[in-house]
Amino acid sequence: MFLKQNIKTLKPSATLAINELSNELIKQGRKVYKLGFGQSPFPVPDVVVNELIVHAREKDYLPVKGLYSLRVAVANYHTRRTHMKARAEDVIIGPGSKELLYIAQLCFDGDLLVPAPSWVSYAPQAQITGKQSLWIDTSGSQKKMLDATSLEAYCEKHPKRKFMLILNYPSNPTGASYSSDELKALADVARKYELLVISDEIYGELMHNGTHVSIANYYPEGTIVSSGLSKWSGAGGWRLGTFTFPENLRWLIDAMGVVASETFTATSAPIQYAAVKAFEFGPEIETYVAESRKVLKAIASYTYEALTGIGLKMPAPEGGFYLFPDFTEYRDQLKQKGIETSTQLCRKLLEETGVALLPGADFGQTDEELSARLSYVDFDGKSALDFVKMHGSISPQKVNDVAPRVVEACNAIKTWLK
Ligand code: PMP
Ligand code: GLU
Repeated sequence: MFLKQNIKTLKPSATLAINELSNELIKQGRKVYKLGFGQSPFPVPDVVVNELIVHAREKDYLPVKGLYSLRVAVANYHTRRTHMKARAEDVIIGPGSKELLYIAQLCFDGDLLVPAPSWVSYAPQAQITGKQSLWIDTSGSQKKMLDATSLEAYCEKHPKRKFMLILNYPSNPTGASYSSDELKALADVARKYELLVISDEIYGELMHNGTHVSIANYYPEGTIVSSGLSKWSGAGGWRLGTFTFPENLRWLIDAMGVVASETFTATSAPIQYAAVKAFEFGPEIETYVAESRKVLKAIASYTYEALTGIGLKMPAPEGGFYLFPDFTEYRDQLKQKGIETSTQLCRKLLEETGVALLPGADFGQTDEELSARLSYVDFDGKSALDFVKMHGSISPQKVNDVAPRVVEACNAIKTWLK
């Protein structure tokens, strides 16, 4: 084997591995509750699909940084939602925001700072690009999100180092988010230590009460805002992500453009044309996103109540489609089953109940913590949207009609623990 040292120790990304394992078990006839993988359950909005059909014959390579009309639409989208004054030149389009996160790390000369817990891929990307990834502990915060004091303490200890800080909110894996005051405080520290902030707002539209605020409002000069079609437009498999930059970070967007030109060339043309419709955010998209939020909010609160009701602790859900339960309450009983780590917990739970979750260890927590990420998305998104259209909302008693597998999975966890 002639593998590079930094690649040798990597394994397939936990999220994609649990998706493939769950599908494989289902193929073998096992009943699996797919709460491991974080994929939007909703269909792509019809207006966006129709736009894709219209543009299916677009076959030419597009400009490296993206289709101009899409860059305009994305810039306008962020300008409407934040205090950014973005223009088309400030936007780069990529085949998923994951790829953009990767090439940003590739270009940036410095280390990666991430709160623990954070999404599974930031740190492995750092490893691939030869960076150090440094985790900041959030155990002082009830909702397991970064606070300004911990960030400041960390930066003070490393005054000479250049850092890229990735903040993701609403958060994958906790489902929690930041208030404006928390963002302001984080922005003050970021400015003081000249951090490059990547604000991963891919779940921003899915803040359950529709009140997402960006740190770009408070630290515009150092913040790149990330978005894409995967979460709020239901199109993870279409692979389209966006980064929007402040003007003074032109050096980075240009460098990323160079790397893109030597690697993926440009994002799929028909998908970019279709994405214009999504980012223009007309009334159909407004309605689609508002209804998606109602569905997610109802299922999130049901699941949260069910699991906190049996003693699992976790941050209260505010957005996106994840919860991050902690099974510490059951440590003694689990030990009797031979379970002492989050990895063992998830393995045994899947084997014995069919409920797929991802271990907290995959998100930067210690394996002893007995935490796990639960994605409450194993339901038919189209029927759920139809239900909201017809009834206006989903009451707790109706969650079973809309998301029976999520309800069954909660019951299975309960029975297993008792
Ligand atoms: N950031 C977070 C927090 C995610 O959960 C994901 C997963 N899809 C991504 C980025 C990457 O999304 P995509 O590449 O589909 O835009
Ligand atoms: N972001 C999704 C998750 O956390 C899956 C897609 C991916 O990881 O690329 O489960």
